[in-house]
Amino acid sequence: MKIKEQELYVHIPFCMKKCNYCDFLSGVYDEKMRRTYTAALVKELEYLGKTYRHPLRSIYFGGGTPTWLETDCIQLLMDTIYKWFQVVEGAEITLECNPGTVTKDSLRAFHMMGFNRLSIGLQSANEEELKLLGRVHDLNRFLHTFELARNAGFMNINVDVMTGLPYQNPKKLQYTLDTVVRLHPEHISAYSLIIEKGTPFYDDYQFDSVRQEAGMQTEALPTEDQVYELTKQTEHFLAENGYRKYEISNFAKPGYEGEHNSGYWRMVPYLGAGLGASSYIDGMRFSNKTNIYDYIEASKKYEEMETSKHLWMDSDTLQERTRNDEIEEFMFLGLRMTDGVSLFDFEERFHTRMDLIYRNVIEELRREGLLDMYEGRVFLTERGMDLSNYAMAKFLLED
Ligand code: SF4
Repeated sequence: MKIKEQELYVHIPFCMKKCNYCDFLSGVYDEKMRRTYTAALVKELEYLGKTYRHPLRSIYFGGGTPTWLETDCIQLLMDTIYKWFQVVEGAEITLECNPGTVTKDSLRAFHMMGFNRLSIGLQSANEEELKLLGRVHDLNRFLHTFELARNAGFMNINVDVMTGLPYQNPKKLQYTLDTVVRLHPEHISAYSLIIEKGTPFYDDYQFDSVRQEAGMQTEALPTEDQVYELTKQTEHFLAENGYRKYEISNFAKPGYEGEHNSGYWRMVPYLGAGLGASSYIDGMRFSNKTNIYDYIEASKKYEEMETSKHLWMDSDTLQERTRNDEIEEFMFLGLRMTDGVSLFDFEERFHTRMDLIYRNVIEELRREGLLDMYEGRVFLTERGMDLSNYAMAKFLLED
């Protein structure tokens, strides 16, 4: 029998400065608050470790900028995880970091703590794009951080880049891609910029996107067609340089596909610790409180009373999943990966064959050249990936 495993995500909501496009749950707080939050997070980790006892196959510290938190706080969080959880030998343990928030010593310390994968947010190698995004680093800082990370022993590094930036053109993008590939990171994530409400970018470019939707030429933002071309340019260049696209936005050298996110797309249960973090466990989904003071208060209550209640959870977010919800989600998430969904895994999970539920959909999408089947797997073709929203919507089930 397979041993059940789970993943752990730890949210660190602190940044040096808020970037102009960012709507993540993160902000600028002083050291006192960072330490208070760490103490609260320790309590939640203790609770989670005591309650959900399956071994951890991966751990991911994301944010925010986890490396903006004091190094001794990260050490305390890792010690807590090792105290309350069983961690599978060889588990992938990732730390997100931003250039300029680490030093030679802190990187060595992170490596010693057990982190074996570093994810660096570069976004762009062009100085004017970095300024526009409101990033705190410049290219030299990134190059220096990358070198320090290698010297500290990180042999599995991801670099984040972005497409669809204001005023971005193929030449600017190529400069970013050339710069990154020359360093030979094991993994590259390439996301398209999404302009979210409530960000300075929304105020600056909202008018531009409204014009774009009306089919008018825009000043700053690349059009949908241009973003498509930039995405294809990224995919082709990375493929030529040995990076396999294994998910809509993720590319890896062979054997370096991200374990943590792949688990998420295969619906491995996961626990989310920290502000606003989401969990998927025992067939339920829920997220934590998003107000940092409420989150800290929950930990104080935990100390005061013996309880088996998840005090950090925002109970309004709790969803019990129906079987149809689970099937749909299994298909949506699985089809994000270029390897798609295994017929065997589907049957093992849902005790029914995929074709009994989706025969018509599969046939229709195959006829349209959007989906294919090979060696027991169903996956989107390149064209299917380009039209993934359309293709995936076909897998919605009627209740
Ligand atoms: S560093 Fe990342 S999380 Fe922090 S503000 Fe910038 S984009 Fe947001």
